[in-house]
Amino acid sequence: MPRARDGTPPNKISTPRKRVFFALAAGGLLLLGLAVGIAWFLSARRPPALARYWVVGLETAAGLFLVFLILGLAGLIRVALTGKLPAFFRRPSLLAGSILLPIARFSGRLFGLSRELIEGSFIEVHNRLVLASVTRKLPRRILVLLPHCLQWIKCPFKITIDLENCGRCRKCDIYQLIEVQHDLGVKFHVATGGGQARRLLADFRPEAVVAVACERELAEGIQDVNKIPVVAVPNERPEGYCRNTRVDPGAIRAALGLLMGVPPSAGNGDTPDQVTPRQEADTASCT
Ligand code: SF4
Repeated sequence: MPRARDGTPPNKISTPRKRVFFALAAGGLLLLGLAVGIAWFLSARRPPALARYWVVGLETAAGLFLVFLILGLAGLIRVALTGKLPAFFRRPSLLAGSILLPIARFSGRLFGLSRELIEGSFIEVHNRLVLASVTRKLPRRILVLLPHCLQWIKCPFKITIDLENCGRCRKCDIYQLIEVQHDLGVKFHVATGGGQARRLLADFRPEAVVAVACERELAEGIQDVNKIPVVAVPNERPEGYCRNTRVDPGAIRAALGLLMGVPPSAGNGDTPDQVTPRQEADTASCT
């Protein structure tokens, strides 16, 4: 069985980064549940006047919403454990992921955890969910979005127009990404910012997206385009944000292979766990 870089087999919830999101989301839901329970108990002790019926209605709606989120979280945990998403959990899990992220961020702040760690954990869970949910109907139009900062900062070639303009000097990962593009027959696009990424989405109308960026942009992008499955590949930032960033071409190959239903080649062993950065990111920010 293929193993992740830290030696743990795939489909194990014990992978530290996935566990972070689950623990924070569950803790946040517990706090919300307690608040709703206390409010409901206090208002139920005294028979509400007619004007206060809306309070009870709101509390009931909040309770039902919490049940929905708990179902979604259960589906996400199931996907992380087994790689499978039963139909019963499909809708709650697909909706709950993005709703639980701000709850996990809030819980994480209470424990002093970095936003990057929480968003990285969310991305790992989200990738599992997407890859489990596309297996029934494989997408035909896949958009691969790369950030411009992957290109070596002093490179004179205009790869934003076409990746093929790369001079193959091997100073950045672009030349390896061209190989992946050729091998799998999917054209890669370089976006210089969020506006261009949105234009590409509107023009291309993809059925699935593979996106490379920092954790923050990926998490925001996933929430923005919640109707399109997005497999997110965090970049590596040896020189900080937005400058000479790197990406593991094997992670993009693995993500595309899984979306396209390409069987893993011998020694390649594509698994959702491969759709992760090669190393821990640094903590600087350019925003
Ligand atoms: S590999 Fe291509 S894109 Fe990267 S620096 Fe060299 S010529 Fe430029």
